[in-house]
Amino acid sequence: KEEIEAPIIIIGSGYGGAVAALRLCEAGKKVIMLEMGMNWGKSGIPYSSMLKPDKSAAWLKNKTIAPFFNIFGLKPFTGVLDRLDFEHINIWIGRGVGGGSLVNGGMAVTPKKNYFEEVFPRLDSEKFYNTYFPRATTELKVNIIREDFLNDCPYYKFTRVGEAEAHKAGFKTIRVPNVYDFNYMEKEYKNEVPRSAFRTEVIYGNNHGKNSLDKTYLQKALDTGNLKIFDLHSVNDIALNDDKSYTLHVNQIDTSGKTIVEKVFHCKKLILAAGTMGTLQLLLKSNAENNLPLHENVGKNWGNNGNFMTGRNWVKPLSGGTGAQQSTIPVGGVDNWDDPKYPFFAEIAPLPMGMDVATALYLQINKVDKKGSVSYKNGKLLLDWNESHTQKMKEHADYFIKKMNKANGGTRAHLLFKNGFGANICYHPLGGCVLGEATNEFGKLKNHDHLFVLDGSLIPGTIGVNPFVTIVAITEYCIENLINQNEFS
Ligand code: FAD
Repeated sequence: KEEIEAPIIIIGSGYGGAVAALRLCEAGKKVIMLEMGMNWGKSGIPYSSMLKPDKSAAWLKNKTIAPFFNIFGLKPFTGVLDRLDFEHINIWIGRGVGGGSLVNGGMAVTPKKNYFEEVFPRLDSEKFYNTYFPRATTELKVNIIREDFLNDCPYYKFTRVGEAEAHKAGFKTIRVPNVYDFNYMEKEYKNEVPRSAFRTEVIYGNNHGKNSLDKTYLQKALDTGNLKIFDLHSVNDIALNDDKSYTLHVNQIDTSGKTIVEKVFHCKKLILAAGTMGTLQLLLKSNAENNLPLHENVGKNWGNNGNFMTGRNWVKPLSGGTGAQQSTIPVGGVDNWDDPKYPFFAEIAPLPMGMDVATALYLQINKVDKKGSVSYKNGKLLLDWNESHTQKMKEHADYFIKKMNKANGGTRAHLLFKNGFGANICYHPLGGCVLGEATNEFGKLKNHDHLFVLDGSLIPGTIGVNPFVTIVAITEYCIENLINQNEFS
């Protein structure tokens, strides 16, 4: 077996991993990053669109795994979108150099300050809103669509209809910032550059326009000369050595998922940034198989960020459909968060089918009044999560859809979901390794001296908006403090 020594290893190249890599590299540290997915930028293989799924569409599956309308006939390939299936919930995640930033809708939302304070009562919110959130949105290149363009562009009819209908039903709407470059989008509309958002590209990757992490944090980290990324390297488990260093058992795979080389990595300092589910899998598995010490809070305080998909069919009578052409980049949302009885946020989501299906799709974000937990048994990750955890969310969705239909016409989205509700659809798994509970105040795992967790698992199951801006801000805060405390010297 090939053995490799490194001072600092980061597992995972999503938001937490990319931020940690940049700040460590800037501080002059040599960093190795292990990522199980592919480096798409380097591979030269294009991402596929939603209407023509190909290599990038799914992680080693023979069928597409988007939430709706799946097709067979894929040749298993290390694609960018993966789905973990549990009894009551399906969790979608991104795989590849850039993690979730490769597949997500790019919605870059800073949480409401009072909710952030409720979720993280011990953090200095002034410092976050003055320093870490602005730092995150600057580095991520967050920008906002021009209202004139939005009002004129046929690809945003679904947003205009969604907002007009929401207003008619008495709801408030907000403009949602994004990391997709809206100047690029205006050019693609005029056919001056290749199309991406207007070519149904998003959850299988964007060939253009989107400022995913490979173009921002990771590129900057690589530019320092201190970062080395090993893609198609899947970490199996972690072992703690007597001298408090770590050994990782790693499979280098090919694009069909077959192991081509088994490797062993040794490091003094380890950062787990494998995403909420990846980090929990590695910690709990390594505890079961290698006796990796774990604090009892690991696996606790997990949530789906209140994700609840819902929709409406036959959005026609008053508004004339949602449009045959749809941008894949959402820019609008219904903000009902301040309603004491039904607090929720609902993204007005595109459904780019290449024809007008007169259907409105919404990804609701609710509070999580009942948290779940994650454990590991018989070689498998187990999720304690069932219908009781999403009951309240369902009541909110029911209220929203009824009110929208009453004001505007339309029916519950029976064509999209069983009974019109997608309680099982989760894009935002959060928690399980919560800041200050399973870790110290800056992400160092309890019971360990040199193991750090920096990703979505630090957030206790809910943040009230799409989570990546918060994941970036929390990581900026943690890594700055960890470096200042000489944790990586
Ligand atoms: P991730 O970004 O998930 O990165 C973890 C990385 O670790 C992955 O690349 C993974 O392959 C790698 N990894 C895992 N296990 C191993 C292992 N054992 N060995 C090696 N590598 C490993 N959020 C928003 O804020 N706005 C949005 O618009 C939005 N839209 C979304 C749409 C979709 C379809 C999905 C799936 C998610 C969306 N999200 C959105 C959520 C957002 O992408 C995630 O919250 C975010 O990516 C989580 O960041 P992270 O740093 O925790 O980990």
